[in-house]
Amino acid sequence: MAPVVTSPSPATGAPLIHLRDVVKTYQTPAGDFPALKGVNLSIGKGEFVAIIGRSGSGKSTMVNMITGIDKPTRGEVIVAGTPVHQLSENETARWRGVTVGVVFQFFQLLPTLTVVDNIMLPMDFCNRYAVRERRQRAMALLDMVELADQAHKLPSELSGGQQQRAAIARSLANDPPILCADEPTGNLDSRTAERIFALFVDMAARGRTVVMVTHDRELSGRVHRAVIVADGEVVEEHINAAPGGNGA
Ligand code: ADP
Ligand code: MG
Repeated sequence: MAPVVTSPSPATGAPLIHLRDVVKTYQTPAGDFPALKGVNLSIGKGEFVAIIGRSGSGKSTMVNMITGIDKPTRGEVIVAGTPVHQLSENETARWRGVTVGVVFQFFQLLPTLTVVDNIMLPMDFCNRYAVRERRQRAMALLDMVELADQAHKLPSELSGGQQQRAAIARSLANDPPILCADEPTGNLDSRTAERIFALFVDMAARGRTVVMVTHDRELSGRVHRAVIVADGEVVEEHINAAPGGNGA
């Protein structure tokens, strides 16, 4: 198959995320498994990109390269000017804290902390905001996702959709330019999923770069660009001029 050349969609700014010839091979007892087979991808500032593919196609592996959660076996990962593939684990954690907000399928809020304390945790880790500003900032983020009235509850007292909105607020704690979400609606009913998707559309409209993994092909018409992944390769792309609608 001919390689698919990827470039930012025309409506967006300068490239912010670059994967260059990224290979990721997992070592397993059964031998080496090639999860990414030489991926090239550039994502522009303010772009909303959906990474779409079947289970096992390499979607999570690909976003884990961008967030630095995992490192490539070969190739380069340049995000916001930083060669992420060259950072140590500590450097990666500091870098990620202020550069990429990460949202997971199963929310991953700390169960023993209240919602507002969960939002403050990344601020405490990165020290970007003064201590006395942090609670107020966390409350403003919760207000943005319409959860201010749930701030003092434990995550377990919230619905799945509310927990995911809290996780999105947490991902914005340090005002990162990039948001990466790995199947953020995979564990939610369709109405709740729609609400979460709308939040990401809104983030992109405000200039954040959003990378969202999904296996919902229907979303491909509602983002700036859909990157279709199969067997560790980018096999197809769709670029949309006017994304964000409900596809109706
Ligand atoms: P997706 O997110 O598209 O479902 P993944 O990126 O999680 O796919 O996985 C791609 C392939 O790599 C799958 O076949 C998966 O089994 C394999 N894989 C993922 N993580 C590991 C790992 N830590 N060790 C071995 N194989 C892995
Ligand atoms: Mg996955």
